[in-house]
Amino acid sequence: MGAESRLVHDWNIHMTYQVLANKYRPTMFKHLIGQKSIVDTITYALTQQQLHHAYIFSGTRGIGKTSTARIFAMALNCQQHDTEPCGKCPSCQQIQMGNDIDVTEIDAASNSKVDEIRDIIAQIHYPPTQGRYKIYLIDEVHMLSTHSFNALLKTIESPPDFVKFLFATTDPQKIPKTIHSRCIEFKLQAFSQTAIQDRLSQILTIEAIEYDGPAIEKIATAGHGSMRDALTLLDQAIALGQGRVSSECVQSLLGLVSETMLDEITTAIESQDYPTLMSICKQIESEHLAVESIIYQLMRHIYDKIRACLLNNELTVLEQLQLYYQICEQAQASLVHQPSPYIALEVLLVRLSYFKVEPESLEDMIRRQSQASSHNSSKPVDNQSKLPEVNNPQKPAPVQLTGIAKQVLQNAHCHQTNDQVVLSIPSSMSALLNDRITKQIKDAYHQKKPDLVVVFKITEDKERASSQATTHQSKQPIKVSPDIKRAVDHLAGQIEQVTSQTSD
Ligand SMILES: [Zn+2]
Repeated sequence: MGAESRLVHDWNIHMTYQVLANKYRPTMFKHLIGQKSIVDTITYALTQQQLHHAYIFSGTRGIGKTSTARIFAMALNCQQHDTEPCGKCPSCQQIQMGNDIDVTEIDAASNSKVDEIRDIIAQIHYPPTQGRYKIYLIDEVHMLSTHSFNALLKTIESPPDFVKFLFATTDPQKIPKTIHSRCIEFKLQAFSQTAIQDRLSQILTIEAIEYDGPAIEKIATAGHGSMRDALTLLDQAIALGQGRVSSECVQSLLGLVSETMLDEITTAIESQDYPTLMSICKQIESEHLAVESIIYQLMRHIYDKIRACLLNNELTVLEQLQLYYQICEQAQASLVHQPSPYIALEVLLVRLSYFKVEPESLEDMIRRQSQASSHNSSKPVDNQSKLPEVNNPQKPAPVQLTGIAKQVLQNAHCHQTNDQVVLSIPSSMSALLNDRITKQIKDAYHQKKPDLVVVFKITEDKERASSQATTHQSKQPIKVSPDIKRAVDHLAGQIEQVTSQTSD
């Protein structure tokens, strides 16, 4: 028996199988993950009995908008009169099953007709049958027709005290302003990858299903912030792996490349090994793997490397990694415009291996900066274009500036005389300055002229930094931001004074 027919056979045995997204749907406020501020606001309103008559729950798909609205409905009508619904009283149970007489649920995506809304209006003035409130929960409310919204508007302007409207939507912008302005909106946050991973592991443990960590991580990533999407994928992975969630099975489910292949790709990119990259592309195409997911995989891989670099203070390669990430980002965004996803992938891999951030020497950088400033400004800038040559017969190799030091210097304005160079750094970059970076920059200058005094100066912004050297207006102290203060502390007295210009 093949895997597929065995699968069908198993499904027939377990006819009562409930999809995980439904089975583990939250039924109490305390089950909601990552929506603390919303839960706190609702709980406070319930405690104080300061209830508005209409609420909107908005956010991307699969993050619990309808579930939150349903829990709110349960709390409103729970017979235990608590802010947290008991989940046990008849009212709570009927709302959970979707057959409570006082709670009307409408899916606007399939019922956008005006008739439904007319029905609501016709019955709205009759008090609730059992509960305290008559609740109308409208899912995907933005899909209602204009006629339906118009019909609803009159009711929502001044509904009876016992009526509450709870709207859920993925697109609140499409709700007419006249309705929107009469509602309190709660914007639900998408789930973090960690939150999804934790929840999946928790569920698999409860279900006593074997799994491995990387498998869960891949599913959580593919969920893109949606718990429901992640749980649906988990259902599929359980079925495909026949009761075991392994990394290999998730990889084939999502059309991803293996970790080994990912390593091969990155090695080939670094060594500009085009034949290997081409053969990998061919393999990906022949196995019909999902290019979009593979690009996400690459981005994740680069992101992990960026994090590792930051943690280990290896900042020199950071610029290259940022460039890699940016190239992937662009490829992902333009994927739909490409002749084929496999061509897009091939072009992407060639680009990644082709574009390298080259270290730039101090001289080159100064030359480039002075060229740029002579283009930008009509007035010549004094003395800044040339670094004095040093008469040193055993001149060491020039210091190559890379990474943060290069970025800082690129954004600095330099004013140079024979004895000293003043580097005006825009305050937005001050957070990047530390002892190591300033030393790198100083070393670069000292290599050219050992006794040159290098002074760092933080200025309010780049424009002001550049105007300072060419204009002669009065200097006034500015309010020192914590960033500037930190940079000043770092440089321990090497900064003259934090100043800025006032323009008349
Ligand atoms: Zn209850």
